[in-house]
Amino acid sequence: MEATIPKTIGHFVNGRSIPGSGGRYGNVYNPATGEVAGRVAFAGKDEVEQAVSAAAAAFPAWAATPPLRRARVLFRFKELLDRHGEEISALITAEHGKVLSDAAGSLTRGAEVVEFVCGIPHLLKGSYSENVGTGVDSYSFRQPLGVCVGITPFNFPAMVPMWMFPVAIACGNTFILKPSEKDPSCPMRLAELFAEAGLPPGVLNVVNGEKEAVDLLTSHPQVAAVSFVGSSVVGEQVYRKATSHGKRVQALGSAKNHAVVMPDADLGQAVDALMGAAYGSAGERCMAISVVVAVGDKVADALVERIVDRIGTLKVLPGQDPKAEMGPLVTGEHLERVKRYVDLGVSEGAKLVADGRGLTIPGHENGFFLGACLFDRVTPGMRIYREEIFGPVLSLVRVPDFEGALQLVNDHEYANGTAVFTRDGDTAREFARRVEVGMIGINVPIPVPVAFYSFGGWKRSMFGDYFVHGAEGVNFYTQMKTITSRWPTGIRTGADFVMPIMK
Ligand code: NAD
Repeated sequence: MEATIPKTIGHFVNGRSIPGSGGRYGNVYNPATGEVAGRVAFAGKDEVEQAVSAAAAAFPAWAATPPLRRARVLFRFKELLDRHGEEISALITAEHGKVLSDAAGSLTRGAEVVEFVCGIPHLLKGSYSENVGTGVDSYSFRQPLGVCVGITPFNFPAMVPMWMFPVAIACGNTFILKPSEKDPSCPMRLAELFAEAGLPPGVLNVVNGEKEAVDLLTSHPQVAAVSFVGSSVVGEQVYRKATSHGKRVQALGSAKNHAVVMPDADLGQAVDALMGAAYGSAGERCMAISVVVAVGDKVADALVERIVDRIGTLKVLPGQDPKAEMGPLVTGEHLERVKRYVDLGVSEGAKLVADGRGLTIPGHENGFFLGACLFDRVTPGMRIYREEIFGPVLSLVRVPDFEGALQLVNDHEYANGTAVFTRDGDTAREFARRVEVGMIGINVPIPVPVAFYSFGGWKRSMFGDYFVHGAEGVNFYTQMKTITSRWPTGIRTGADFVMPIMK
């Protein structure tokens, strides 16, 4: 299905689409052709104020709505996501460029978070202790925070927003999403569908824009919490600014994910895994494998030979083409940035054994395409090793043994995900235990936790204390209250001037 992209994309506030009023717009591209496909309004003070007022006004009634009734709206939203799956996937592909099957997969992973929070009545169950003192009972429960904000990156316009808003809203908060300005149509459609499912106006709002909108939202006195997913440079700024304004903040950042291939690994399986993990979605995934760590030269030589062979048959085509395995990059600007990294790797002395520069797709000569690239003999001092490239560029680093591999992974400033390929249980267990990274795969290249577990990285891949979705997501969007009660009130205990102890 071809997506129809609206010519001008505004905002979604108080249950309806509104045009931009600030007079500033950004281009939205068709990455497969390089053409401008539409424009998106950039919100200023007026639009942000409208959204915050709508969300603040909707909060008391939504917070007071019993969780079971909130869950019923979520069930209907999930049904609508299923019914409109093809249409939403087409929107993702049209603006992001990733292949349709990948877009559909990412939508499924987002929808799984909705399924998870359909169980919100259970997830919000508190605890109760009878008779903590004579005639005294104690209980705890969690309550929503208020107006929450989500700022999301371009690479998952459905899944990453759905890491946030379904959880926040299920918990009784209201929400303002500021999606990426590069592919805004999908998040707008998600908000329309949630409204169609029966979500009251103002509970979910979408404000499009860039830095100005983010600055206004993260410093707004009526905003209680901010979730951010994007690059670490911006994530750290957002974290510092929003926390300095007293917000609760979780900010997930950049990555450089290593896959360690041990000499005993099933190389066929490892190469299959590496092809998908390095080049799927043109490497524009925060859980993409961008470094393969080969333990021993024998493994390294075999991997290089097999990966180069596989790159030769990789189908790089517009994402809409059912044969496509890899689509274009998101924008011309990003394509140029990734190409500059490939040039840099060559000048730094890494060996470019597969060069995707210069690839053209007949009929799509202006599309933002780059073929798969593989560097051998990359060393830790090189910028192509240290920095996140976020494109179809895989670096191979050679190490002599397991300890060298572990040290390499642990020395990197980013620590989002990692994987080890081995047939040995001891090695796998040792790796999982000692590696300083948030999400680990054992013979699994992209270990994205399922919705009922929590997702997040360590070190400079994450700022804040709570991961997203799963139990940590519910905790992030709620605060605990603990009540100590004595009944009946008629009992006289007399005035007590010492620290109360339960008798
Ligand atoms: P980005 O940091 O450029 O943008 C993220 C969001 O911040 C967007 O909504 C953008 O409009 C906004 N933004 C950009 N510059 C800003 C500024 N100066 N001040 C305030 N807001 C600003 O990231 P991107 O290019 O959209 O996405 C790619 C990045 O996201 C990669 O680094 C990738 O690793 C990361 N990412 C991380 C995860 C994760 O879970 N850790 C998931 C997906 C993507």
